[in-house]
Amino acid sequence: MRIERLILHGFKSFAERTVLEFPHGLSGIIGPNGSGKSNVIEALRFVVGARARELRGGRAEELIFHGGTGRPPMPFAEVILELTRGRERITVSRRIERDGSQEVRLNGRRASFRQIEQALAGSGLGRNGYAIVGQGEVSGILHASPEVLLGHLEDAAGLRTVTLAHREAQARLERAEAHLAELSSELARRQ
Ligand code: ATP
Repeated sequence: MRIERLILHGFKSFAERTVLEFPHGLSGIIGPNGSGKSNVIEALRFVVGARARELRGGRAEELIFHGGTGRPPMPFAEVILELTRGRERITVSRRIERDGSQEVRLNGRRASFRQIEQALAGSGLGRNGYAIVGQGEVSGILHASPEVLLGHLEDAAGLRTVTLAHREAQARLERAEAHLAELSSELARRQ
C-alpha cells in the first residue's frame, strides 16, 4: 500500500487546504522548527483513527486551527488520505467540528473506525499501527509486549483481517454459550 496524497484543511497549523503529494520513492519533509512537520504526522495518525488523547494536545479542539497571523479560527479540521494498493484506490477522510462531532468516510461513504481498520489491514497504518514511529517511541516498540509485537507481525503478514474476524467469531461464540447455559439452567428449573 502506498500513500499518494495527504490533504489537510483546518488541521492544527494548516488553516488553508493544503495538498501534500508523495511521489514514488522516498519522501522527506523538511522545514524550520515549528513549521508544522510533526503536525503532518499527527494528521496521518488522526485520519487513520487515533483518539484525540493519543495526539499532541490531547483534546479534539486543539486539532482545529485556533487562529493566528491575521486568520480567524477554523470551525472544523479535515484530513483526507489517498492510498493505492496495486490498482485499487482507497480514500479515507476524517472531519471534526468544534462541538466535538465528527465524520469518518471510506471512499466517500460514511464508515466506522472498524471499517477503516479493515481497509488499511496489512499497511501498518491504522490505530496502534507500527508504520508510524514518533519521536521517543522507538524504545516503546523495542520493549513492546509479545502480544503487541505479534499483532504487528500479523498485520505485516496480511493476517490482521483474519485474526480480527477470528476474535469477533470467538466473542460471538462465547456469548452464545453463555446464553445457552442460562437457557439450560432455566429449563432445568422449570422441569
Ligand atoms: P520542530 O522541528 O520544532 O519539532 P515542527 O516543524 O515539527 O517543529 P510542529 O510541532 O508540527 O512543528 O508545529 C508546531 C506549530 O503548530 C506551532 O507553531 C503551533 O503553534 C502550531 N499549532 C499547533 N496546533 C495548532 C492549532 N490548533 N492551531 C494553530 N496552530 C497550531
